[in-house]
Amino acid sequence: MKDSAFLKEMEEASKEQISSCYQCYRCTIGCPVVSRMDLKPHMVIRYIILGEREKVLSSKTIWTCLQCITCSVRCPNDIDIAHVFDTARKLSIKEEMASNRDTWLFDSLFLESVKKHGRLNEIEAILKYKLAKKDLFSDTKMGMDMFLKGRIGIMPHNIKDRKGMGRIFENLKEGTGRDR
Ligand code: SF4
Ligand code: SF4
Repeated sequence: MKDSAFLKEMEEASKEQISSCYQCYRCTIGCPVVSRMDLKPHMVIRYIILGEREKVLSSKTIWTCLQCITCSVRCPNDIDIAHVFDTARKLSIKEEMASNRDTWLFDSLFLESVKKHGRLNEIEAILKYKLAKKDLFSDTKMGMDMFLKGRIGIMPHNIKDRKGMGRIFENLKEGTGRDR
C-alpha cells in the first residue's frame, strides 16, 4: 500500500531533497555492493518518491549498504543517498520492519566503542556483539587467526582526549538530533 506522506517524512528526517532524483542510475553504477542488494540504490530512491514505505523499510539494500558514500558523491543532484539509507535504517528499526538487525547492532557497538575509547576496541565490541547474539563460538578460528596476525588487540588503545571525543558525539547529537 502506498503512503503519500513517506517522501515528505524521509526528506524531513534526512534533510535531503530526494524528490530531485531524475533516475540517472549514477548511484547504482558506482555502488560496490550492488550485486548483493535486492533493490538497486536508484530503485530505493524511486520507491521513496512513490511512497512505497514497506518495500523500502523492509529491503535488504539499506542494510547491505556500506556507507561508503560513492553514490552520494556521484549524484548530480547532490542527494546524500548514503544518509538517506541510514535514515531509512533508523525508521525500519523503529517500525520493526528491519530485514537485518545484526548490522544495526554491530554498528551501534562500534560507535559506542569509538565514543568510549576514541577508537575501536575490537575485542570489547566483538564480545558484546557475540554475547548479544548468544553465539560466542561460531567464529573462534577466524578470531584466533586475526589475533595471531595482530589484527585484534586485547588491550584498548585509548586516545588522550577521550572527553573530547565524547563532546564530539554530544555535539553531533545536538546539531543533528541523531544519536549517532
Ligand atoms: S545518482 Fe542521484 S539523481 Fe541519479 S538516480 Fe541516483 S539518486 Fe537519482
Ligand atoms: S553508500 Fe551504500 S549504496 Fe552508496 S555506493 Fe556505497 S554501498 Fe552503495
